[in-house]
Amino acid sequence: MALHTSTYGGNGKAPEAIESLSPATGEILGTVPIAGPDEVTAAVARARSAAARWAELTAAGRRAELAAWRRALAARADDLADLIHRENGKPRTDAIFEVMMALSHLHHAGERAEKALRPHRVPSGLMANFRCSVSYHPLGVVGVIGPWNYPIFTPMGSIAYALAAGNAVVFKPSEYTPLVGQLMGEIARQAFTVADVFQVLTGDGRTGAALARAELDKVAFTGSASTGKRVMAAAAERLTPVLMELGGKDPMVVADDADLDKAAEAAVWGAMSNAGQACVSIERCYVVDAVYQPFVDKVLAEARQVRWGADDDAHIGAITMPRQVDVIRDHLEDAVARGARVLLGGPGEIRGHFVPPTVLVDVTPAMKIMSEETFGPILPIQRVATVEDAVVQANATRYGLGSAVFGKARVRELADRVRAGMTSINSALAFAAVPSLPFGGVGDSGFGRIHGDEGLREFTRTKATAEERFSLPVALLTFRLPRNTYDRVRGLIHHLHGGGIVDRVRGKLHL
Ligand code: NAP
Repeated sequence: MALHTSTYGGNGKAPEAIESLSPATGEILGTVPIAGPDEVTAAVARARSAAARWAELTAAGRRAELAAWRRALAARADDLADLIHRENGKPRTDAIFEVMMALSHLHHAGERAEKALRPHRVPSGLMANFRCSVSYHPLGVVGVIGPWNYPIFTPMGSIAYALAAGNAVVFKPSEYTPLVGQLMGEIARQAFTVADVFQVLTGDGRTGAALARAELDKVAFTGSASTGKRVMAAAAERLTPVLMELGGKDPMVVADDADLDKAAEAAVWGAMSNAGQACVSIERCYVVDAVYQPFVDKVLAEARQVRWGADDDAHIGAITMPRQVDVIRDHLEDAVARGARVLLGGPGEIRGHFVPPTVLVDVTPAMKIMSEETFGPILPIQRVATVEDAVVQANATRYGLGSAVFGKARVRELADRVRAGMTSINSALAFAAVPSLPFGGVGDSGFGRIHGDEGLREFTRTKATAEERFSLPVALLTFRLPRNTYDRVRGLIHHLHGGGIVDRVRGKLHL
């Protein structure tokens, strides 16, 4: 059953509208238009004029506008959660949590922007007669292209911070969750006094491609690495800078002094919440030999409690994107064919768009399930001899988004050694819920940061200002230099950095 279709205009031409379907039931939830290149160009032009008006507001003015949008979104929290639940397939409780998290980012970005983007003085070094400062200025118009897995929380990580930094935003939601995007836009239209400062364009990949190619000042993309590369290539046509929030294969490391009850609970929740469809889901678990068996036993006990289905009591719902079920099945079958043991769930228990909580052991690095993004409620557990081995395995990936480390004595040192944008210590995914922590990846997980002060600065151009406060008797920035300037500069170099005659004698005498 197709869960997502496009409505054709009857003339054999490209689709003109998208039907948004429930992944759980196949029910048509609504129809949205597919914005073409002309509509994208027009929206970006409107955004440019809005950006000028938005940037003219004081920081307090923008803060008040963002607060008004936040209150309006909060007033529609039930409607938003209901749409997220129906369009994405996640349980209602997860959906309302998602709304709360998105609002906390909007709140933080709005309140924090003035402080994070305040101009600041920097040392002037040799140029002692200069007052030097760094300031941050809005870019102009930011295009945001978002995924479907957290249809309000994830794009809000770019939208809120870009708006708070003084930019206008044109947002293209995923074709799997366009109604959530549309509602965000509708609420924004009512809340903002600056028209068009936040616009939503529904459509499919072609709409995203047109947006990436449009006259933007930045593209903030969240999605898969393969689409990210296409977006970068399109943005490169205008040298538009890009922010890339891409996929992950997040590891969890469990040391022998870890609290195993907590670690098992976090591993199961981190791997399976949102049916494993989070960029920062725990997708691989490395457990030291000494605690391997008790950890696996506790994980199994925990995972058996995870209810899956479409009813209101379910912990995890349907897989949103039909083709993802094929990817999950393929990874599971590949693992089993290569010797993995299924302790719970497994490929044989997949029912339509519902994938059961699945725990695998005897996995190896060669399996797809340990190297490629699976995006399902799957927890593969690998036994390792030492935590050193665990860190080596955790880092043996092209990805580097989130991670988790459980332990006591050396846990901070281990966390530092994991090559990832974020690490939770004795918890899973905690970093995503803290608005002041920057969020982003390395390697195939992308670059640039949302959230935190870094996330605000990501949507600004940094400007350096050097202001002369008084003239020096001997000016340096002129052609009118005294004749002995070479010798004076040479003397200054040795005075400041060494390497003069005294140093050379000292060096020869090994003093
Ligand atoms: P996707 O297929 O790469 O799509 C992402 C967005 O790009 C969608 O809006 C999509 O539109 C659009 N798009 C498709 N083709 C395009 C093109 N040629 N040019 C411009 N835009 C285009 O990713 P997804 O399946 O929606 O999301 C899942 C992926 O996102 C996973 O890999 C996950 O790890 C990653 N993710 C990362 C983060 C993070 O913060 N790092 C957060 C959440 C998710 P249509 O949907 O309309 O085709």
